[in-house]
Amino acid sequence: MPFSAIGSGAIGITPLNPQLFIDNYVKSKKIAKQYDIHLSMAGTQIDKINTYFCGAIGSNCIVTPEGQISTCSRVTKGNDPLASVFMIGEVNKSGFLVDEKKASELIHLNLYSFNYCQPCFAKYVCSGGCPHDRLSFGNAMPEYWCEIVRNIVWYEIRDLAIEQ
Ligand code: SF4
Ligand code: SF4
Repeated sequence: MPFSAIGSGAIGITPLNPQLFIDNYVKSKKIAKQYDIHLSMAGTQIDKINTYFCGAIGSNCIVTPEGQISTCSRVTKGNDPLASVFMIGEVNKSGFLVDEKKASELIHLNLYSFNYCQPCFAKYVCSGGCPHDRLSFGNAMPEYWCEIVRNIVWYEIRDLAIEQ
């Protein structure tokens, strides 16, 4: 994602201006199109609909240098605040040891678990947003995410309608 506050980057930075982001993103899309370049942003690709945002819901298998298994590419250390959620096992001399119960519980991070997403017209494109972001912001995507996603999805729909 091009805009996602994380770690030290989440503290003391100027808040994102959603409208400025949308305006500049749309300008970039138009320029990319002139050069036949496909420019897209996670959560706004209208040809990719889903009920979950990414494989962090239990299908990713990311092995850290220390041999831990994570389903989120941002959670790569045992002392990460979300390690207890996304670290599901380890690799050692015995092989892959996965806590299957914990891994299967991650399925709850899908779109249908988030009530406030249900009326959203962009829900199957956004799929409820990045689970890591969601959990970092009190189990709700930041408002700027929703504003940006809805506007860009709407832009993509109009652009497709005009093309056709
Ligand atoms: S939860 Fe977010 S940061 Fe983690 S793998 Fe999925 S998209 Fe990436
Ligand atoms: S834009 Fe916001 S409300 Fe809509 S599906 Fe995404 S996270 Fe949910």
